[in-house]
Amino acid sequence: MNRQDIEKLNYEFSNKSPRDIICYALERFGESRTILASSLSIEDQVLTEIFAKNSTSPRIFFIDTGRHFQSTYDLMEETSSRYGFKYEVYAPSNEQLEKIVSEYGPNMFYESVDLRKKCCEVRKVEPLKRVLATVDVWVCGLRREQSFTRKDIEVFEWDYAHQKLKINPLAYWSEEQVWEYIRSKNIPYNSLYNKDFRSIGCQPCTRAVKKGEDVRSGRWWWEDPDKKECGLHVANVIKEV
Ligand code: SF4
Repeated sequence: MNRQDIEKLNYEFSNKSPRDIICYALERFGESRTILASSLSIEDQVLTEIFAKNSTSPRIFFIDTGRHFQSTYDLMEETSSRYGFKYEVYAPSNEQLEKIVSEYGPNMFYESVDLRKKCCEVRKVEPLKRVLATVDVWVCGLRREQSFTRKDIEVFEWDYAHQKLKINPLAYWSEEQVWEYIRSKNIPYNSLYNKDFRSIGCQPCTRAVKKGEDVRSGRWWWEDPDKKECGLHVANVIKEV
């Protein structure tokens, strides 16, 4: 797939629904080589419902960093039983985790941006590499309006870091559209959203946000907002491949 192919896809699917986009991906690339990334966010819950209803054996993965909220694990069980599939769960390597926690302590992420990134690297990025080695395409719930770092994402992108096609079917959706879909289908969601959380990750690195604040301002709130990403979603560059 090259730059022109990706631009063509973005043009062809510019007015299509997330369901159309996902069905296209499952059909063209195959169910076994197309995977949905889920952190159990509201966006991922929308895509999970679509995946589960349009795939005979949906591949949906969750990276268990070991530091999630209990409500995230509860939602995982509820979603799995409601839609009748099992999550593929990936966890950090014991060896790497033991090493960083022994060396820097269990709260290393508050010490510096470098140590926060090291924690994300071990708990999230390395497991992600193992997941993506099994597929050609990954589907994510990123939206443009979520943050400064996501304002230019497209529905179809070449993920240069992982050398895979990345699809963001909700790239142009608003937060309200996501909620409308959740309510219309009665999709289960994390109870923390009822307590002013608007983006939910690991418990020590997530807090509720105030009215008017950026959706992701409750994540790594002590860091510069222009640089906050965990390494899973590095800027995607369209290149000839
Ligand atoms: Fe570690 Fe926080 Fe990143 Fe989770 S979000 S992997 S706890 S730094």
